[in-house]
Amino acid sequence: MEALRRLVRVDQKPIGRTPRSNLATYTGLFDHVRKLLAEMPLARKRRYRAGRFSFNVSQGRCPTCEGEGFVNVELLLLPSVYAPCSTCHGTRYNPQTFEVTWREKTLLNAAI
Ligand SMILES: [Zn+2]
Repeated sequence: MEALRRLVRVDQKPIGRTPRSNLATYTGLFDHVRKLLAEMPLARKRRYRAGRFSFNVSQGRCPTCEGEGFVNVELLLLPSVYAPCSTCHGTRYNPQTFEVTWREKTLLNAAI
């Protein structure tokens, strides 16, 4: 541990109050991943552009949670809470989006 000066842990947890932005989107890393996936043969065949791999675009995202990965659950007498989306299980995308892979990696793990 003495050899380490700094350790930075990077994950895709949301930055701020909304789940719309995370470190990968904020730094522009995700833009590269989207472009890469859009160049794959299956993506070209289906005419998926880089924007299709954004959870802010309706074609690529989960229709239930609209790309948030969570759904707002209204509770009687209690403050509403966010619960993981039961359709995409928090992945934020629809299954067709994950069918496009780069070196057997999907959108979720291509950046790693
Ligand atoms: Zn969902």
